[in-house]
Amino acid sequence: MSLSGAEIYRLIETRAQELGFADFGCAHAGELPNCMQQHYMEALANGHFANMEYLGRNLDKRFNPQLLVEGARSVMVFLAPYSLPQGVHPPKGFAQFALGEDYHIAIKEKLFAIMKELLAHFPEFQGRAFTDSAPVMERYWATSAGLGWIGKNNFLISRTCGIKNLIGVIISNLEIPATLDILPDKHLQTTASCGECTRCLSACPSGALRRPFCTDARKCISYHTIENRKLQEDIASGAAPHFAGAIFGCDRCLDACPWNSANKTGWGVFHKNAEFLSGRNEEWWMGIPENEFKKRFKDTSLLRGGLQNIKASIQWGKKE
Ligand code: SF4
Ligand code: SF4
Repeated sequence: MSLSGAEIYRLIETRAQELGFADFGCAHAGELPNCMQQHYMEALANGHFANMEYLGRNLDKRFNPQLLVEGARSVMVFLAPYSLPQGVHPPKGFAQFALGEDYHIAIKEKLFAIMKELLAHFPEFQGRAFTDSAPVMERYWATSAGLGWIGKNNFLISRTCGIKNLIGVIISNLEIPATLDILPDKHLQTTASCGECTRCLSACPSGALRRPFCTDARKCISYHTIENRKLQEDIASGAAPHFAGAIFGCDRCLDACPWNSANKTGWGVFHKNAEFLSGRNEEWWMGIPENEFKKRFKDTSLLRGGLQNIKASIQWGKKE
């Protein structure tokens, strides 16, 4: 029995809900609009990606998923909530997304489950799953799939599930109806905007969010504490801004956003180390040996950033 486009859509939507995704949407695969490409190229030319050289590679694939996945016709987008339950205080110094299992692992596991189901229904199905690990413009595809809009702090905002969500994507050869074709009301999500609000810009302590939609990673505490493989060098040369209290990441421009009130409680795996981290002070971090750190934080986001950056961030924060 063959399924109609709408039935395929509902099948994926139902499976996504069962797996705990906060929202699902779909867009037709194709080249990104010129304005998006231009915005990205300007950021690249202005050095806003700092030392993340990989962001300047594979631009053709980044701007067109049909060049990344052969025969791509649809881009399915899934939102994974990671917010702590209401009333639970996050450990100081850590971004909330990093309090548990590495989101690449947690999200991909569920995307693979969806792909398995699609294959069972459609033997011709081919697809690839991504979450912040390949040249895919996830936030653009989330807006295109009707899931929200990009806020002035550059994060995706959803009216229904707030701002603390991570994005998973499946690019496939199946022709799946676009969300905005079958659920026109979802259009309200993408046409919403931040309005006059500028809370995130005021909250940024380092001047990284210098104007709306423009984050300069060279000044961003999140970048330096998580992604920067040359943090110690940049601290020594004065290239890194001074920051205190940040051990791994920075949520200030997220926490300032009024759309936090719409957050859905995140998956338990994303919080599994929250209590443990709350009980560790800076001395503990400075004393933990590399092998113990690797064992204790196996498969977590913290391991991805590395102990050297954690220690360097703590020391940098203590400087006058
Ligand atoms: S993560 Fe922190 S430093 Fe980076 S833009 Fe947001 S508030 Fe500024
Ligand atoms: S804080 Fe205000 S301006 Fe910034 S992303 Fe949220 S709604 Fe938009």
